[in-house]
Amino acid sequence: MTAESTTPGWDHTVDLLVVGSGAGAMAAAIAAHDRQGSVLVIEKSDRYGGNTAMSGGGLWAPNNHLMAAAGVPDSPEDAWTYLKGTVGDAVPEERLRAYLETVPEMVRYMTERTRARFVALPEYADYYQNIPGCRPGGRSIEPLNFDARQLGDEFLKMQEQNPQMLIMNRIFMTVFEARTLLTRAPGWVKLTMQLMGRYWLDLPWRFTSRRDRNLAMGNALVGMLRASLLDRGVPLWLETAARELVVEDGRVVGVVAERKGQRLRIRANRGVVLAAGGFESNQAMRDKYLPNPTRAEWSCGNHHNTGDAITLGLSAGAALDLMDDAWWGPTTVVPGEPHARMLVIEKSLPGGVLVNKRGARFVNEAAPYIDVVNAMYRTTTPDAPCVPAYLIFDATFRKKYPCGPVLQASQQPDWMLPKALRDYFKKSDTVEGLARQMGIDPAGLKATITRFNEFARAGKDLDFHRGETVFDRYYGDEKVQPNACLAPIETPPFYGLESYPGELGTKGGLKTDTRARVLTESGAPIAGLYAIGNCSASVMGHSYPGAGATIGPAMTFGYIAARDAIPA
Ligand SMILES: Cc1cc2nc3c(=O)[nH]c(=O)nc-3n(C[C@H](O)[C@H](O)[C@H](O)COP(=O)(O)OP(=O)(O)OC[C@H]3O[C@@H](n4cnc5c(N)ncnc54)[C@H](O)[C@@H]3O)c2cc1C
Repeated sequence: MTAESTTPGWDHTVDLLVVGSGAGAMAAAIAAHDRQGSVLVIEKSDRYGGNTAMSGGGLWAPNNHLMAAAGVPDSPEDAWTYLKGTVGDAVPEERLRAYLETVPEMVRYMTERTRARFVALPEYADYYQNIPGCRPGGRSIEPLNFDARQLGDEFLKMQEQNPQMLIMNRIFMTVFEARTLLTRAPGWVKLTMQLMGRYWLDLPWRFTSRRDRNLAMGNALVGMLRASLLDRGVPLWLETAARELVVEDGRVVGVVAERKGQRLRIRANRGVVLAAGGFESNQAMRDKYLPNPTRAEWSCGNHHNTGDAITLGLSAGAALDLMDDAWWGPTTVVPGEPHARMLVIEKSLPGGVLVNKRGARFVNEAAPYIDVVNAMYRTTTPDAPCVPAYLIFDATFRKKYPCGPVLQASQQPDWMLPKALRDYFKKSDTVEGLARQMGIDPAGLKATITRFNEFARAGKDLDFHRGETVFDRYYGDEKVQPNACLAPIETPPFYGLESYPGELGTKGGLKTDTRARVLTESGAPIAGLYAIGNCSASVMGHSYPGAGATIGPAMTFGYIAARDAIPA
């Protein structure tokens, strides 16, 4: 391995400098180290893990080696047909191919050479079941649980999970378990008891931290990768922000960083990998690039993702792409919580409906979350505003299913809601009364619900076809028949909740090629500069082919960037 060294005029010298500490950054650092490069990871905030740590931790990885064992075989041809079918012409074909060819190798590499361990989710369907080459599951994989004790003191420096991924804001569950609990699939009561028991009986850890040590989802993934960096002795400096790129003779040779208030010049002989996330928390950039209205408070993402890497890339002459897009989803802003929550499951469960200010539906609520927000923006008019939209449901829904931060009423009735959440739902004995409280057209809402209830009884949504695909039904309630996503909204009191066009992070950024190299407007690579994850324009274009379509590419192109910068 090339030793870290100092070069005159520089405070620190490495082969590869990685800016940011999400899973893509860590995958790049691991691969570069394993190719005998010296590596440094710098992270702006005082916690590592970024959005990745807050996430579901899933990867969309066609042809991954775990699929066959899960009973869902795949083929490169089908993966290509499906990805091309969802992304269309928004991304050059060679980048799509680079992704599909490398993601299985990256998953295998991480599984065999690091502490990362995954399981395929055989029932987590690709999002577009009408596109040829789709799979009913298996391409999405999730990390296994990871014991935080393997991280020692480093654990408490990890970014905490978004609360929507936790039971009662503290107990971890896997993606598979989340579905069982939230849709009340068979075994959900026993599972609840097991997870609660595991947490509360975990002595003496309970006296050490309120944070659950049985990490799952994004915390598990980041934990596995952080432990693998520790195994390799790769340094990760917290509170160290990249501020400027240093360019010599047209090549990026390092960055000027700010570490705890001090300016540092860090030289990177083989390249700089920008992995500093999107611009979800930068209101000025949102106003400039995203469809309006848009607010940083509607985002589920990390507060430190302020588009820094995009600005740095622009300063070196980089081109941008997809800047008007994000990993959209309808979100709810919960009083007292730092991040919005996405209504991923709630929107699909039977007995609820999303409407605009006229009280009219505008989308298949069970569709992929990006489609719901795209419909919000597409259908909004001055006459029928769709921002916010309103999730309307009845007492039966409230009794059976958790919603946002609130457990189902069978476990947490309205009178048990903490003070901060008393006004979280609006509530009325009549549909019209609820509409008036929320500023929705009462006659419009009444008419919508009457029509929706007819569909629910027949099991057929003639307007938007909700519940017709395996993906729709993934977050439905299979006990509700004939359609797991439809039930009448008829039992008072009626409830309502505002929902906004939020996201899990933005997806537009620096234009890159098959090797993750940052490109100029003319299409030429900027020597020494790579970009991956949400600071790069996504390989998924305007689409979201399946669960994990953001972290899968971030890790894959991180792995590719390291290979390119440090050839074997
Ligand atoms: C609740 C939730 C659930 C999600 N579930 C999934 C899922 O299951 N699968 C999936 O694929 N995606 C999921 N996502 C989206 C996913 O988390 C992100 O798209 C992804 O993690 C982005 O990765 P990244 O590497 O681009 O950035 P991040 O993981 O956000 O890392 C960027 C890091 O860079 C740091 N940084 C910023 N500026 C600087 C600077 N100037 N210098 C140094 N460091 C800097 C930030 O502090 C941050 O730590 C979810 C997101 C959320 C919020």
